[in-house]
This record gives sequence, structure tokens and C-alpha cells, in this order.
Amino acid sequence: MSIDFEIYSPVHQIHDKLFDEQGLKVFIKRDDLIHPIISGNKWRKLKYLLNEAQSQNKTHLVTFGGAYSNHLLATAAAAAKFGFKSTGFVRGEEVNNDTLFLCRLHGMNLKFTDRESYRDKESLFNKHFANDNEVFFIDEGGSSALGAKGCSELMAELSETFDHIICACGTGTTAAGIINGITDHQLLTQFHGVPVLKNGEFLRKGIDPFLEKPSTYHLHTDYHFGGYGKVNDDLICFVKQFVASTGILIEPIYTGKMLYALYDLAAQNYFLPGSRILAIHTGGIWGLLGMKDKFKI
Ligand SMILES: *Cc1c(COP(=O)(O)O)cnc(C)c1O
Repeated sequence: MSIDFEIYSPVHQIHDKLFDEQGLKVFIKRDDLIHPIISGNKWRKLKYLLNEAQSQNKTHLVTFGGAYSNHLLATAAAAAKFGFKSTGFVRGEEVNNDTLFLCRLHGMNLKFTDRESYRDKESLFNKHFANDNEVFFIDEGGSSALGAKGCSELMAELSETFDHIICACGTGTTAAGIINGITDHQLLTQFHGVPVLKNGEFLRKGIDPFLEKPSTYHLHTDYHFGGYGKVNDDLICFVKQFVASTGILIEPIYTGKMLYALYDLAAQNYFLPGSRILAIHTGGIWGLLGMKDKFKI
């Protein structure tokens, strides 16, 4: 039996004076609604990995992430839902936060790992699980060809076409999947990635290996706000205003930066009038819990 569940990810229009003035129609694909915990792109990335684990008769998922990792939490919950054991290697010294609490609540065993050892995930895995035939390795963030395959399915769910699709990027696996989906459906849609890390051009190394065929896509590398997990008052203010005016919950680490970029590009007349734009809400709203003090509300 294959591992799957029925997902709900509608497309909603975002109304804003800016978009009206620019003659743009902007929509958001609500991958955040896929599941309360296994949310957004994380379920898409895990789906074929879990099926692969099952077909290899593995019973124990082992993966990696930072202390606020949406991927660790999604893996913990997916493992629980589909009857796997789970272990998460957490980068850095032992801490306790809301994300890790939820990981443990879902039965994940956490192993805190110093940054040096964390770098070589394969050897960490081999060292801890030598001669264990039950374990299945999942790379940090679910980065893999199978992860990209799951993400490409997003394109098949769209009943209308878009001139542009814009998405936040961490490892680039989600971007690669969506670009492959655009290729598969022979669409003219342009893909725009917003790297949430510094030196975003490096992301091409995360995207290109998973592309079915060489494709052009745009990276907007000026919206990292100082690096992964970094924010400033401008971004926080934008997130507050977006949530309060749309009722769509977003966090500032991924979707907040992506939407900030979209609004900023629109304000700079980047998109031609008449364009239809789809933003991907990749979920991860539990990340908000680690940022409460940044909001000063
Ligand atoms: C992990 C994550 C991303 C990044 O996805 P990649 O496939 O690693 O590029 C984007 N948004 C959210 C909310 C995430 O949790």
C-alpha cells in the first residue's frame, strides 16, 4: 500500500491596491493547508522518500536539521502518522524550544550534534547506525531527487496557467521540482526563486542537479535580510500587515521573505501589466513560535 493522504491546497487570490495599480493578478497556493504539522513543501518532499523507505522495508527514519527545522518536525509527524520510528540529528548544543518539543511529542528521538560532526551527515549516520538494517537516511531538508519529484506534482494541481511562479528557496529542492513540473507540462511559466540565505547564487548548485533538463529560471538574491533566520523591522512590519490584511498566516523566515520580494518587485514595475502571478505558500508557520519576541506585539 502506498503512503499518501488526500491533500487540500487551494489557490486564493490576493487583493491589494499595489497589484490593482500595476494591473497584476496575484494568487497564492495554500500548501500551508496540506497538514497542520507536515505542512507545505515538506510533505511533498517526504512523500516519495517515505514510499521508498517502505519499499525497502525500513522502519526507522533518520534525518537532520537545525533546532527550528520545519523538516525535522514534518518528518517526526509523518513518521508517527505512517508508523515509522524517527531520529533527528539536531545541529548544535542541546536546547529546548517549541519545534523540538513538538518533534518529541511525535515520538522523535533527538540527538544533538556539534557543528563539526554535523557537517558530514553520511558518516554521522553510518557511525550511529552501523549494522542497523532498519534505518532509512533522509538528507537535511529532504533534499533529494525523490523530494523534487514530490514537489513537481504541485504543477499538476493547477487548473489555470500563470505567467510567473514565485517560491522561497532553502536547499532548492522545491524549486527544482516546480521547474520540472513546468517543463513536464510544457508551460511558458517563468519560475522565480527567492533564496532565504545569503549568497543565493549558490542555490543553483542545489537546483540544477535535480532538473530533468537545463532550464532558465530567476533567482532574486537580495531578499535574505542578512541570512537564514535573520529578519529586520521592515520585514516584520510587512508580515504583520500581510497577515492582518489577508487572514493568511505566514512566517518571516521563508514565505515572508518571498512575499516581501514579490511586493517589492511589483512596486518596481518588474512584472508586465496583465501578468498572472502565483506565489507558493510553503507552510512552516510553526517557525513563528521561535520569533515571537521579534514582533514586539
Ligand atoms: C524548508 C522550507 C522551504 C525551503 O524548501 P527547499 O526545498 O529546501 O528549498 C521553504 N519554505 C518553508 C516554509 C520551508 O519550511
